[in-house]
Amino acid sequence: MAAYYHSIVLDEKLCMGCTNCIKRCPTEAIRVHDGKARIFNEKCIDCGECVRTCPYHAKVAQTDSLDIMANYKYTIALPAPTLYMQYDLKFTRQHVVTALKMLGFDAVYEVARGAEIVTAVTDQYMEEHRENLPLISSACPAVVRLLQARFPSLLPRLLPIKSPMEISAMNARKEFCQQNPGVKSSEVGVFFISPCAAKMTGVRNPIELKKSNVNGVFSIKSVYFKLLKQMSKLKEPEDLLKAGYKGVRWASIGGEARALKTQNVLSVDGIQNVVRIFEQLEDDKLDDVDFIEACACTGGCLGGPLTVENLYVARNRQRQHRDTTPTILEPVAPEEMENCMFETYPQYLDVTTLDADRTEAIKKLRRMNEICEELPKLDCGACGAPSCRALSEDIVRGKANVTDCVFVLRQKVRDLAREMMILEGLMPSDSSKEKENEE
Ligand code: SF4
Ligand code: SF4
Repeated sequence: MAAYYHSIVLDEKLCMGCTNCIKRCPTEAIRVHDGKARIFNEKCIDCGECVRTCPYHAKVAQTDSLDIMANYKYTIALPAPTLYMQYDLKFTRQHVVTALKMLGFDAVYEVARGAEIVTAVTDQYMEEHRENLPLISSACPAVVRLLQARFPSLLPRLLPIKSPMEISAMNARKEFCQQNPGVKSSEVGVFFISPCAAKMTGVRNPIELKKSNVNGVFSIKSVYFKLLKQMSKLKEPEDLLKAGYKGVRWASIGGEARALKTQNVLSVDGIQNVVRIFEQLEDDKLDDVDFIEACACTGGCLGGPLTVENLYVARNRQRQHRDTTPTILEPVAPEEMENCMFETYPQYLDVTTLDADRTEAIKKLRRMNEICEELPKLDCGACGAPSCRALSEDIVRGKANVTDCVFVLRQKVRDLAREMMILEGLMPSDSSKEKENEE
């Protein structure tokens, strides 16, 4: 089986070992040892939280290089709705999509249209599956991975509908081949312009189908200035738009939920808040809600780590788009809603079992609890692990020592110094003290 691809990596040269990132990671996937951070890949969900947290920019979100467009005879750009809000309002959505064509893409398909399709399919699915509410949105790949790694009991609530990106890629390719007879599907490269690193991971390791329809992911940062240059010289933009405001507002948190027929919805952003809501859901405290929209990034995709514009500025621009864009341009056609359901289902990722052998795993768990009892339970992070419990887990896994805890180390040094003084006769031993007392 191919190794799981992670888009978030560490640039070791830049890491100062400050430990700022270890406590922000929602899956406790980071440790700092020997002055450098390390990501435990099996636990990382590529949420990008550490990219935002690191003051030294040592955590990096990898995406594809624009050069890979050359591998295809024809290319299609899939702009995320977030892309529009990166630019001053004098540049309309028509300007942005036309500039993408000027950059060399043969066609543009708005992911906002894919979002409108997902909304239509979700409305239908919810009507037919009321017994399974609340459902959890499957649009944010980091959230899906969080469910797999930390909340497996909630996986049956995951909305089994492909992401707007995948649906857009599928429809864009089909449409392009239909409009250009003779073009083979394999000759067409479809590229997503992304605000977030988790999409890159989602394309390389798709959860809802065996192979992604997307051939590459470019960060918004990597195309931002190129598009700006094209737009500055653009006189008459083409009208290539497919989506209305209903799809465009998916860019920010609340956009997906507000587009649905039901308004008994909960929208939560920021990975730590998502964790808290899922904990409540696990405790059966949110049974009266129909739908949960959850985004790993604060503010939704507008707050993604690969964006350029400040979240609050971008959010204001989105509101301005509402005033100038119809809610929908065209109703979703039945053929657009075909093949939108998951083809494969995300499975539980067991990242907590301590050993493949069950008896050994139980023994190790017992040992882990004993070690944890010996630790001060301050969760100070000085050992390089985010909590005392995480350090005990690392110790039984053979990845750390109990003396990595500064408090344990200090006590051990004290004990050693005392023993040496007793040996040198500079201090009475406990037994000689007892004797003295008896006499
Ligand atoms: S936040 Fe983490 S990755 Fe960044 S410098 Fe500190 S320890 Fe290194
Ligand atoms: S991307 Fe998210 S899960 Fe992965 S190491 Fe960073 S904070 Fe942790």
